[in-house]
Amino acid sequence: PIDTDSMFKQGFLNDVYKERPVKPVITRFPPEPNGHLHIGHAKAIAVNFGFARYHGGYTYLRMDDTNPESEEEEYFTSIEETVRWLGFEPYKITYSSDHFDTLYALAEKLIEQGNAYVCHCDDQEVKKQRGGEKGASPRYRCEHANQSVEENLKKFRAMRDGEYKPREAFLRMKQDINDPNPQNWDLAAYRVLNKPHHRTGDKWVIYPTYDFTHCLCDSFEKITHSLCTVEFFLSRTSYEWLNQRLVEYQPMQREYGRLSIEGSVLSKRKLKELVDKGIVRGWNDPRLHTLIAIRRKGVPPGAILEFVNELGVTTTNSIIQMSRFEQTIRRYLERTVPRLMLVLDPVPVVLESSEFEGTDLTVPFSPKNPAMGDHKIKFSQTVYIDRSDFREVDSKDYFRLAPGKTVGLLQAPFPITATSFTKDETTGLVTEIKAVFDRSGKKPKTFIQWVPAESAGSKRCEARIYNSLFKSNNPTGAEGGFLSDLNPDSEIIYPNALVESGFDEVRKRAPWPEAAGEDKLGKGGPESVRFQGMRVGYFAMDSDSTDDKIVLNRIVSLKEDKEK
Ligand code: ATP
Ligand code: MG
Ligand code: MG
Repeated sequence: PIDTDSMFKQGFLNDVYKERPVKPVITRFPPEPNGHLHIGHAKAIAVNFGFARYHGGYTYLRMDDTNPESEEEEYFTSIEETVRWLGFEPYKITYSSDHFDTLYALAEKLIEQGNAYVCHCDDQEVKKQRGGEKGASPRYRCEHANQSVEENLKKFRAMRDGEYKPREAFLRMKQDINDPNPQNWDLAAYRVLNKPHHRTGDKWVIYPTYDFTHCLCDSFEKITHSLCTVEFFLSRTSYEWLNQRLVEYQPMQREYGRLSIEGSVLSKRKLKELVDKGIVRGWNDPRLHTLIAIRRKGVPPGAILEFVNELGVTTTNSIIQMSRFEQTIRRYLERTVPRLMLVLDPVPVVLESSEFEGTDLTVPFSPKNPAMGDHKIKFSQTVYIDRSDFREVDSKDYFRLAPGKTVGLLQAPFPITATSFTKDETTGLVTEIKAVFDRSGKKPKTFIQWVPAESAGSKRCEARIYNSLFKSNNPTGAEGGFLSDLNPDSEIIYPNALVESGFDEVRKRAPWPEAAGEDKLGKGGPESVRFQGMRVGYFAMDSDSTDDKIVLNRIVSLKEDKEK
């Protein structure tokens, strides 16, 4: 069984609970719907949804949609689906924009208290007021801070009524510019943005900022523990400042470390460039680290949750090596998926006799877990092995197939010894191998995977093997930028791979109930058809598959590989 709860039992998250040991715990996951979620968000989802679930509470999925410029329908849908895919059910899906009326009224209240003013300064001037380039010069306020409440109200309503163009006026909180915390230096609360909003249409031409909106929405939803990432640590001050002035219910913000993975690019702008330039197949290309990409590749949601739990939650940001993520996935798949034989680059081996033609071999789906059951493979006189398992010239330190050399075929009645081979003179590739059974009873040094002929049930498929999209571990820092760091071998396609007939049953039974927790997670999609291709790696069915054509993605290799 997977453990996804130990992160709540000790350490940071346990301390956070002890600070406010209430029931029910109410949390929120508040993505900005301006892009697809990425691996870092999986941590945020696991932390927020998991924390509430662990303490018997519930979680809002709140679309933080206060920035109409960058929101698109596609993202709303994808975010919701991804949360469910990870096994969490939002208590309600809410939108910050649902509260635009209330937020506006509270902004007027703040003005009436003398705690906000309409400012007309430009960015450069504001920067100077806040201490200049390095924040080293003395801070000061502009004359707008001295306007009367009436004047501020009048101007704020004029902002609302469209009488100012963007940047001509904005509402600022009147905080404490002498405090060393920059989040206290008269932050923006509302700005003019002449953009229609996804949900409120043309109703508003002013929109509240994150700093103004987030804390208040947390209060409206009675959030008990508002968990966010450490870059918001200083924002806790303005969070509490505003809530104390404007609302009764006081939520509590606490901050945990961000998760990122070495060698992956997560910034939306960079991802867009990779997509637009056709370098990858789309936002869900298996080489990316958006959650839709990780899902498509075949990584089970349970493995992601296990990964986050294993890393634990502290207040420091962490950059995790890709190999560590892959190791968790591998370990998870090792326990949960059936095994099959898959040959990426098939070469026919014609056996001496048809003695075993049509014989059913009974093969377990997992040598370690009998509960997974078994399936049949039909033997045939012609079998296929992988090109990389044959050498035209034998050598002493080589233990697979070569003329005169014997190798075991996994699950087959006898090992085989190659006798001769033919070659295509133009391509230089071996086209056929002839072999005999080795009935000596000697156990061969190596067993290789093979599949019977298509007439005996094997299926053609396209197999896509993925490697890191970038050559270096730090593509963003690469000389010439991340686009100069592309790995030419990030995707290797085997168009004529063959998978044994057991694939049909794996497909029918997916997702495998033996997979801990897997039965409720990620049901239905092609990616839940997963198996270990013996000696090749873990695979899942790609969404490009059709009734006539199977496409497989390699999720991870069997062992940590040298290739990069
Ligand atoms: P990005 O700029 O990478 O999209 P973000 O902070 O803008 O990240 P939001 O959509 O605002 O993303 O994030 C929703 C929630 O997810 C926030 O609470 C945020 O703190 C959290 N989050 C975002 N990125 C990470 C990460 N790498 N690790 C952990 N939590 C994250
Ligand atoms: Mg954000
Ligand atoms: Mg974001």
